[in-house]
Amino acid sequence: YPPVVAIDGPGGAGKGTVSQLVAHRLGWHLLDSGALYRLTALAAERQGVASDDEAALERVARHLDVAFISEGEGARVLLAGDDVSSEIRTERVGALASEVAALGSVRSALLSRQRDFACAPGLVADGRDMGTEVFPDAALKIFLTASAEERARRRHEQLRQAGHYASLSGLLKEIEARDARDSQRAVAPLRPADDAVTIDTTELSIPDVVARIEALLAR
Ligand code: C5P
Repeated sequence: YPPVVAIDGPGGAGKGTVSQLVAHRLGWHLLDSGALYRLTALAAERQGVASDDEAALERVARHLDVAFISEGEGARVLLAGDDVSSEIRTERVGALASEVAALGSVRSALLSRQRDFACAPGLVADGRDMGTEVFPDAALKIFLTASAEERARRRHEQLRQAGHYASLSGLLKEIEARDARDSQRAVAPLRPADDAVTIDTTELSIPDVVARIEALLAR
């Protein structure tokens, strides 16, 4: 089993950017597990599968035709050959993803696909349950958090830079709703693994967080 760094936490804590940078600096593979839930939700929507048809959703998850094509420090995501890199990042698909992610059979259907990413020389795995469910033996488990206000502010800035306007209070409400759904669901609720190191990024820059993780890895 090659070494795995598990990076979990709520949305907007900086997991995506931090995981990408750490993977890039180490020359390790990267698993964006949230993208798999987003892709399942989008594929189901495109196939006209109802969001409460658990058996059909499980089939969609099991037979997902996806490709991650790395490009510089990022990646393009293809669903059945179609570039959906931007579409899977929308709030609509994020909300659908958190609905399908609450289904145990969908989570099991994606389990082996996620574990297949663990290849030499190593893997940085970004998600909600990397350290608790998918890679319980990970060499290092990080739980990244930040206050809901700070996460809303970061999302607001990201959207502003992309030319979109969204109200800060609306974003804060969405973030709090998503947190509640992810941490209160019956299967794989969001929580730090017992042996995870929690890093609160509210007052840290991205390079600070990356440096802390590298220092923990070097121990
Ligand atoms: O991290 P991201 O925002 O892309 O994840 C989208 C949704 O997928 C999350 O809100 C969460 O409900 C779900 N998810 C999950 N387990 C993971 C990754 C994401 O349940 N490992």
